[in-house]
Amino acid sequence: MKKLSENIWLVDPPNRNFPHSTCIFIKDEINCLIDSATSQEDFEYLKEQNISVLLGSHGHVDHALRNSEYPEAQLLLNEKDHGYVASRDSFLQMLGSDLFGSENFNNMKIDRMGYRFRPADGTHRDGQKFVFGKTEVEVMHLPGHTPGHSGFVFPREGFIFTGDIDLEPFGPWYGNVKSSVDEFLESLERLRQLGPDFVITGHAPEPFTSGIARLLDEYRDVIFRREKEIVRLLHAGKRTIMEIVAEQPVFQGHPKRIFVFEYMMVWHHLERLMRLGKVEQDGDCFYLVEGVRPSNLNLG
Ligand SMILES: [Zn+2]
Repeated sequence: MKKLSENIWLVDPPNRNFPHSTCIFIKDEINCLIDSATSQEDFEYLKEQNISVLLGSHGHVDHALRNSEYPEAQLLLNEKDHGYVASRDSFLQMLGSDLFGSENFNNMKIDRMGYRFRPADGTHRDGQKFVFGKTEVEVMHLPGHTPGHSGFVFPREGFIFTGDIDLEPFGPWYGNVKSSVDEFLESLERLRQLGPDFVITGHAPEPFTSGIARLLDEYRDVIFRREKEIVRLLHAGKRTIMEIVAEQPVFQGHPKRIFVFEYMMVWHHLERLMRLGKVEQDGDCFYLVEGVRPSNLNLG
């Protein structure tokens, strides 16, 4: 753990892989943990710290991993993400089991990890302030990755914890049924407006302490690159979503590619392109609206 201030600790994950992520421990008059996917070693320490509030950035397992291991703490999560943590069935539904069948998710690692679902005790909302003693935290709803995804602003210390808006080179992830490209773009703009001194994310190895506006822009541009690639594929005659997904415009051969997530992310781009009036759907097939070409695409 790294001390960030008198009362705030950054809890590093044991590695950068699923199912762990960076968490924040507030040791003050009231003790609070933001996200719970710590190492076993850090858990051994934290479980003795009388944590009474668990704040969740969102409902994914690699942030909610140990929620069930703090039974005395109140778990607060934006209500749009409650389905992820309520039960196995609702979790699979949030992932997309109604569309793809739950068998597509049956090999999820959660079974091997012994993850236990633990429903939220309550909700946090955009703009809500928590005072834990000297430490104040304000919730910032930053949807897109998931519908309830939220960041936590520490106004006194000048930073924000942004969960899975992780600013990693892979780029934004919006592969669940209720993820949204438009919401993700709006959330990035909100962060830009906030102008924090530094940013801690769920998966980047270190806090980002400079050039944050530029990093946010580069991260946003990954979304536009993917969208442009989908338009290029449509222009080249790929018509069905399966034909487009086969070309991997999102994951581009990345080793972490999972078919259903690529599919959902392509689908969310097509939804957006249709809303922008650049693509039309006819049955299973998608077409560029007349006059739209990769070369004259204006996505911003
Ligand atoms: Zn996530």
